[in-house]
Amino acid sequence: MTAKIISGRETAEHILEKELSKKVEVLKTKNIIPNLVVILVGDMKASASYVKQKEKFAEKAGIKSEVRRFESDISEKDILSEIDKINNDPLIHGVIVQLPLPDHISVAKVLNSIHPSKDVDGFTPNNVGKLFLGEDTLVSCTPKGIMQMLRISGTDLNGKNVTVIGRSNIVGKPVSILCQSENATVTMCHSRTKDLNHKLSDADVIIVAVGVPKFISGDQIPNGAVVIDVGIHNIDGKLCGDVDFDSAKEKASAITPVPGGVGPMTVCALIENTIIAAERIHSA
Ligand code: NAD
Repeated sequence: MTAKIISGRETAEHILEKELSKKVEVLKTKNIIPNLVVILVGDMKASASYVKQKEKFAEKAGIKSEVRRFESDISEKDILSEIDKINNDPLIHGVIVQLPLPDHISVAKVLNSIHPSKDVDGFTPNNVGKLFLGEDTLVSCTPKGIMQMLRISGTDLNGKNVTVIGRSNIVGKPVSILCQSENATVTMCHSRTKDLNHKLSDADVIIVAVGVPKFISGDQIPNGAVVIDVGIHNIDGKLCGDVDFDSAKEKASAITPVPGGVGPMTVCALIENTIIAAERIHSA
């Protein structure tokens, strides 16, 4: 079996240009221009390139975006006061803080200071709590992008077995909740899981968010499973994921590539969340 490739790049382009840009046009007729602010601290190359992609996607959807850059020695107090200004600015609908932050700044404190209505990354306790309760909320971007990819690949999760590898707050845990809300039976695996291969043996869908290059290979994947690879690594200038793509594609029925898979869908979800935030703020 050679897997169908679930292209995040093509899907994201389609959603941005055909769906989200139309929503933005409607908002513009009401003089509302969705506006995203990205806070970037320091000069990490990887962060700068992620931010560039966010700006590019914002432009494609027709929303406004602004990057506010700060030196890496900025104090935590000054970052918090910047977020406070943004929280109180009626012309800004969404704010994200590009991670990682320098060690002297508490990530939890900074993220928790974002007003939930502008938390387009969906990381604040308020939005995470709502997600866990099954309430309407701003869903964090990578899990949201993964669910969209499963949908476009025609994967109906009802009654299916989903194995999630990785239990981070930003990927593994929220995506497991979203899969359960679509009636999947979810098995969560992590660094202390015993006999991972057994946990994978009856999986219909495997979501890998471990942060180890090529951690999962084809011999661990049951025939016909759908594989979502969240990881992204630069190995000697070549990008790869948490899944060994070449062997996995011979066993899976569908698989996401790296690059061009979950990454673009994550950014697309961020733009969609900014539009949703703008709609909600103005209808409140
Ligand atoms: P994390 O480091 O926060 O969590 C990794 C998880 O993997 C942990 O829960 C840990 O228990 C589990 N793990 C580690 N070793 C394991 C093992 N041997 N067996 C089973 N589980 C193990 O990582 P994260 O933030 O969830 O990110 C995971 C990967 O996804 C990284 O490569 C990251 O760069 C990537 N990522 C990509 C996007 C995107 O938009 N494409 C977004 C977020 C994260």
